[in-house]
Amino acid sequence: MSSSFRIAVLAGDGIGPEVMAEALKALHRIEAAFGHRFDFIEADVGGIAIDRHGAALPQATLDTCHGCASILFGSVGGPKWEKLPPNQQPERAALLPIRKHFGLYANLRPAICYPSLAHASPLRSDLVKDGFDILVVRELTGGIYFGQPKKTDSLSEGEAGFDALSRLSQKRSVDTMIYTTAEIERITRLAFMAARKRQSRVTLVDKANVLETSVHWRTTVREIATDYADVSLEYIYVDNAAMQVIRNPRHFDVMLCENMFGDIISDEVAAATGSLGMLPSASLGASAASGATTFGLFEPAGGTAPDIAGKGIANPVAQILSAALLLRHSLKLEAEAASIERAVRETVDDGFRTADIWSPNMHKVGTVSMGDEIAKRVRK
Ligand code: NAD
Repeated sequence: MSSSFRIAVLAGDGIGPEVMAEALKALHRIEAAFGHRFDFIEADVGGIAIDRHGAALPQATLDTCHGCASILFGSVGGPKWEKLPPNQQPERAALLPIRKHFGLYANLRPAICYPSLAHASPLRSDLVKDGFDILVVRELTGGIYFGQPKKTDSLSEGEAGFDALSRLSQKRSVDTMIYTTAEIERITRLAFMAARKRQSRVTLVDKANVLETSVHWRTTVREIATDYADVSLEYIYVDNAAMQVIRNPRHFDVMLCENMFGDIISDEVAAATGSLGMLPSASLGASAASGATTFGLFEPAGGTAPDIAGKGIANPVAQILSAALLLRHSLKLEAEAASIERAVRETVDDGFRTADIWSPNMHKVGTVSMGDEIAKRVRK
């Protein structure tokens, strides 16, 4: 069944517009092959929005996003805006507020190491020669990054305790890790549903030997797992997970993490693939009342790459795969998402490489040619 969707396109800064053009190329191929219609509504975000409108996330951009089913995001920031006060800098003033504004509570970070690109991985070749495919599902709006109280108090001499010889002013800092059952439940269900479309295995990453919140996660996830009897569930302490990811990455399918553990583990898994320019991400909010779409923001894992911006050599794959995630998780177009992912895999298998993933005897291509090769392979 063909459908029509409005998609907000926020390309941002640096390589953002270059790689975004290639993602739109792939989506146009999807329109032609599957008979859908996408209306792309472009809006400024990040440094370019500061230059043009005086704010990294102008109200007009938010209004555009509200009128759309989802957001395809590039990346924001760069040297030009680094001297601004921290809370006015593009990442802090655009990305964090937009996630908060739309209540994007789930971060999905797929990390695929393609066997043909295994040489780029920093892991030993015998561990990655067959590749790996891990999806980190990270809770994004709760936990220790947001819990209250969060503060630093000065201590009086009597309270300071032991080291009377210290020349430092004595303080006490508190961060608070809080999770409610509802917060755990919504992301757990999302992880199990994602696992069903993969290898049907979920690993809960926690620290249940020490943290009360982790015990809460375990009991809640165990209870919810009974609704997904076809998906296997295992538990792993976060310190062990950090080791196993680099010792045996193929062990994992979906790794379900609270906010801070997911922050760390998702970067570790990404680094293990060795190809930052290949990695997409999705941040999801609530489903529309009809259940037909889920609002989300889809963006590359990497940043604006100022060192290569404007040279036509950026790898567009992360942005193109972000578009595939948008089709799958937001618009519920699974076959269309799979078509883009297959096209990327075939392009890489056929030997096309941007500079960041190039190896001898492969065809070195620029951003536009890589995008062309991928778009050519998108089919029903
Ligand atoms: P970066 O991810 O932009 O770059 C790190 C390295 O990876 C660079 O060598 C870059 O050339 C390379 N790289 C990244 N994406 C690539 C691609 N698609 N193809 C080829 N190579 C690629 O990180 P950084 O240098 O730390 O940050 C640069 C700017 O991006 C900063 O202003 C930072 O604030 C911003 N940033 C934005 C986001 C975001 O918008 N989500 C995320 C991270 C960094």
